[in-house]
Amino acid sequence: MTEPWCKGISLQKEKKIKRALESTCELCREYTPLSLLELHGILPEPKVKNPHPKEREQNILVVCPPCHHLIHEEPVPVKKLKVLITRRLFTVRQEILRALGYVPKPYLPPDDIDLSHVVDDNLRSSS
Ligand SMILES: [Zn+2]
Ligand SMILES: [Zn+2]
Repeated sequence: MTEPWCKGISLQKEKKIKRALESTCELCREYTPLSLLELHGILPEPKVKNPHPKEREQNILVVCPPCHHLIHEEPVPVKKLKVLITRRLFTVRQEILRALGYVPKPYLPPDDIDLSHVVDDNLRSSS
C-alpha cells in the first residue's frame, strides 16, 4: 500500500532514497536488502498534492518490514520518528533530496554523471 507521502515517488527514486541510507533501516539500523525496505510517511497526509522535496524528505522514513509494522501497530510517536530524520547526515539528506527531484545548487552536475570518476580524476591531477 502506498502511503500519502510516498505517492508520486517512482520505484527508481525510491531505490535512490534507500541507497542514500545505505540500505539500512532508520529505526533499528539493521542492514536490509533494498527490495525489502519500505518507505513510511510520517504525517497522515500532505497538505498539497505535490509536496516540495524538502517537505517530503522531512516526512519519509526508510524502514524494514518489522519496524514498519511496529510503527503502525504501537504506534511509535511521531516525535520519535522526527528525531530520527533530524539525525540524518547532511550528505544523506542531500542525496535523498536529489532523489526526490530537488536541486540544491544550480551548478551541480546532473545525476547521470558518475561522480566517482570526477573525484578520481581530480585526485590524479592533483598528485
Ligand atoms: Zn528496522
Ligand atoms: Zn507506514
